[in-house]
Amino acid sequence: MVRVEMLAVGKELLIGRTLNSNALWIGYRLARLGSMLKEVTTVDDDLGEIGKALKETLARRPDFLVVVGGLGPTPDDMTLKGIAGALGLAVRRNAAALGLIKEHYAKRGISPVELTPARLKMARLPAGSTPLRNDAGTAPGVRLEARGTAIFCLPGVPAEMRSIFRASVEPEVKARLGRVHRTYVRMKLFGVLESNLAPVLSKELRRHPGAYIKSHPRGVREGVSRIELDVSVTGPDPKQTGDEGGAIAREMARAVVGLGGKVVSVRGLKGGEDWWT
Ligand code: ATP
Ligand code: MG
Repeated sequence: MVRVEMLAVGKELLIGRTLNSNALWIGYRLARLGSMLKEVTTVDDDLGEIGKALKETLARRPDFLVVVGGLGPTPDDMTLKGIAGALGLAVRRNAAALGLIKEHYAKRGISPVELTPARLKMARLPAGSTPLRNDAGTAPGVRLEARGTAIFCLPGVPAEMRSIFRASVEPEVKARLGRVHRTYVRMKLFGVLESNLAPVLSKELRRHPGAYIKSHPRGVREGVSRIELDVSVTGPDPKQTGDEGGAIAREMARAVVGLGGKVVSVRGLKGGEDWWT
């Protein structure tokens, strides 16, 4: 089992200004790979809070930690300083990071770029870390290792976070996972109450202990209750996961009809055609 955690940094996430959509997206991408996000911690833009959360997270010995937010040039961006402080590392100008930042401004036609303190700040990384190319913005991502955990620090701007996550985080997680395949089926059910579905779900989960089966009530319209049911099976063999996912979907469909309900759609979800890519 590969353990992946996220540490989200930003007051805006705690005061109802910004939804932590980055956690949703990272969770989705990891699940798609056959892994999952095990724990998400959110903290204020505060050196002490960042350091404390980092230490607590590392104590759980995750394989990967994705830290998001606070890499930019503004005064509230203090993630790298907080991490370095907690790990006892110096923060130094990193030549490779500075190169990436200059390259970014040159691409935007700003060359030679005036290296203001705000711009230089984005090139100051904890000692021993590697900058990660940011194709969607300025501040490079940062990779470092501590206490057996690979730590990736990514900008908070969703487009930038996603770009670096796809390019630099996913390949490493994938390599660590080895051969994993996931079958994901989504069914839409009409006319069956969740309370009546509950015993069917229990029985199915006993028959398929490794599977994930989750009902999502979608309200009642025109007197008909609607439920979305997700079924997923993860394992090393695509045929086995496909067969088991299919068997669960068929067994559930039979039970729903037995309860007087209707299955209005069954859809296999693959990467790229899912609800969020
Ligand atoms: P930048 O270099 O652009 O300043 P940054 O790493 O410093 O990036 P922040 O300043 O923390 O990132 O946030 C930039 C923007 O991204 C803000 O609008 C913030 O609300 C948004 N953001 C930050 N974290 C998240 C998150 N977890 N989910 C969604 N949006 C986020
Ligand atoms: Mg910022």
